[in-house]
Amino acid sequence: MSTHAPGHDDGPHTSGGSPPGGGRYDALVRRYDALVIGGGVIGLVTAWRAAQRGLRTALVDPAPGGGAAWVAAGMLAAVTELHYGEQTLLGLNMASARRYPDFVTELEEASGQDVGHRACGTLAVAFDADDRAHLRELHTFQQGLGLESEWLTGRECRRLEPMLSPGVHGGLRVAGDHQVDPRRLTAALLTACERAGVAFHRDRAERLLLNGNGGGDRAAGVELTGGTRLAAERTVLAAGSLSGRFAGVPDDVLPPVRPVKGQVVRLSVPERYAPFLSRTVRAVVRGGPVYLVPRENGELVIGATSEELGWDTTVTAGGVYELLRDAHEVVPGITELPLVETSAGLRPGSPDNAPMLGPTALPGLLLATGHFRNGVLLTPITGDVMAEALTSGELPPEARPFTPRRFTAPPDTAAAPAAPGAAHSPVGAAHSPVQEQHT
Ligand SMILES: Cc1cc2nc3c(=O)[nH]c(=O)nc-3n(C[C@H](O)[C@H](O)[C@H](O)COP(=O)(O)OP(=O)(O)OC[C@H]3O[C@@H](n4cnc5c(N)ncnc54)[C@H](O)[C@@H]3O)c2cc1C
Repeated sequence: MSTHAPGHDDGPHTSGGSPPGGGRYDALVRRYDALVIGGGVIGLVTAWRAAQRGLRTALVDPAPGGGAAWVAAGMLAAVTELHYGEQTLLGLNMASARRYPDFVTELEEASGQDVGHRACGTLAVAFDADDRAHLRELHTFQQGLGLESEWLTGRECRRLEPMLSPGVHGGLRVAGDHQVDPRRLTAALLTACERAGVAFHRDRAERLLLNGNGGGDRAAGVELTGGTRLAAERTVLAAGSLSGRFAGVPDDVLPPVRPVKGQVVRLSVPERYAPFLSRTVRAVVRGGPVYLVPRENGELVIGATSEELGWDTTVTAGGVYELLRDAHEVVPGITELPLVETSAGLRPGSPDNAPMLGPTALPGLLLATGHFRNGVLLTPITGDVMAEALTSGELPPEARPFTPRRFTAPPDTAAAPAAPGAAHSPVGAAHSPVQEQHT
């Protein structure tokens, strides 16, 4: 494995063996050990960790450091995001949450940048008897799984957060659900990648290249817009919600990822109102989830809608109205705050709400996608898992339930463990009256 100048675009790299108009190549010059398609938070952490392991690594993205994390609230909400039937995913979420403090320390050191990690905890509040019953049930469920959460009366909630509405009648305090600023996180990852020697190709990957006998039985790299070809020993598809439609990937390997739109509003808290809120506050209002995430720099993020509308990222009056209306019920004082920004992004959703990590049935192609509403939370563990998969070819034990093969292999083979959303579930989804909560 050789080293090369960090962080700048390389020129054309391949030679030989490409039939005109075909997608299969036999004589690509091996240029990279690892090539990552997509420079969102997941592609960036994968490239960083791969380069740290000594792999000659490239990343392809026309605009690295953007993606869904540009919109995301950055809640590290392993416990408050618990859904019935997602206990296996909970294990991965908790493992990643535990890694966050060390990950942040290492990344801040590697990049020289602050990522806005705030160990502030979360308060999930209830308004009426129904909400309270739902939260109580969630509390019991959490306790049954050994998770740390504490039931508070309405008065206790308001003592913690005086800006809360008098209508709050109780809540759950989850001291371990923190937050990070996803924009700073991706910026720091970008710098860390550059410093670790990742080669950036600021271009779109048009299609996967295949080579091998009998017409292409191995992923061999990608072709960029304009025809440049990059060869790689291993290619990682980390293109977020677009991963499911990447050209050249055989149909039976293509990940079942779909875009789930989320709109977000950003307010700012002027000095005279600070701290306004001291921790993340979440609630379900009229059956819809809403959260308020206060950053140390005075930003207050209110989110998020959850809409299945394809790749549409329009910010709508209705979306913004609902967010502000619901957030206002929880914290009436928000109407005094300046509105700074509205935005919409696409969560990469998967059929069981869990990510797809590691090798696929196509040799040379790995996936790191489908992180849905927990991609920021899952960043540390995804980096570690993917680095391991890229170097050893194996998934570490904690990541095995998240193999992409669970969607493609016959159900009774070892390669296809039960879907993470359904495994080891002491409480079935049918018992679940808990309202949906979305990041
Ligand atoms: C409103 C909202 C709120 C959220 N809140 C939270 C939260 O509080 N906590 C949390 O943990 N998660 C949250 N998430 C989820 C989280 O943001 C995502 O799971 C995560 O950002 C996904 O990262 P990704 O890198 O997989 O995909 P993306 O961020 O979508 O990045 C994919 C990248 O691939 C690139 N790409 C696509 N196609 C190509 C191609 N052909 N060639 C080259 N590059 C390509 C794109 O340019 C993009 O940069 C939220 C998401 C949204 C939308």
